Amino acid sequence: TSFGFKHVREEEKSQMVGNVFSSVASNYDLMNDLMSGGLHRLWKDRLVSMLNPFPGMKHLDVAGGTGDVAFRILDGISSIKRRANQDPRNDHLQEETQIHVCDINPNMLNVGRKRGLERGLGEDKSLIWVEGDAEALSFEDNTMDGYTIAFGIRNVTHIEKVLSEAYRYDYYSFSVIPALGELVAGDRESYQYLVESIRRFPPQEKFASMLVDAGFQKVEYENLVGGVVAIHSGLKI
Ligand code: SAM
Repeated sequence: TSFGFKHVREEEKSQMVGNVFSSVASNYDLMNDLMSGGLHRLWKDRLVSMLNPFPGMKHLDVAGGTGDVAFRILDGISSIKRRANQDPRNDHLQEETQIHVCDINPNMLNVGRKRGLERGLGEDKSLIWVEGDAEALSFEDNTMDGYTIAFGIRNVTHIEKVLSEAYRYDYYSFSVIPALGELVAGDRESYQYLVESIRRFPPQEKFASMLVDAGFQKVEYENLVGGVVAIHSGLKI
């Protein structure tokens, strides 16, 4: 059987995505480090610094199962709070922060939850884990200040649907795939699927124009490591 996208029915594809990530969930950190030589950590740092999170922020991180992006957002907000805490003019900083981590795969969410516990965030009400599909999100319109999807959009069946869902929220920021990625993905079918999904993902300019078509303004992208990875961002104004 061939697992090129053209040969796979859509419902099979979603299931296959699920299988791929179930099979890698427990080795996810190791896989990421191997794939990127540890650089994914810096890329995610950069994504979050571009996002510029703030206390009281309501944020949605899609395809975020492992919590990598969410933990960075919370760290950023905590350090702002620590710096500002002494000043009574900053009482508004006590407003409740909510970082929703949404992923289609419960195994990935479990990995994230476990990592949250290890980081002492088990009781942290700011962190909310939600099982859901990037193509059909369950949140109300305009309920988020930000939206991120890091290394996730290449896995979806309809990029346009994901973008129009993203546009239902406010500011958003994107991170795309390292082309050399995911050679560690176990069995041959998973591997072929991942290679295909990387090859098929639109180049930076094209993806930027898709964001514009979805309604975003001030669309920009920043290439990292010479364009192996890019962070796209756009605003809903
Ligand atoms: N954002 C994390 C990071 O950068 O470390 C995880 C990236 S991982 C390569 C891709 C994630 O996308 C997996 O957790 C997978 O379950 C999730 N995913 C795939 N298709 C999805 C969809 N349609 N909706 C939501 N999540 C999806």
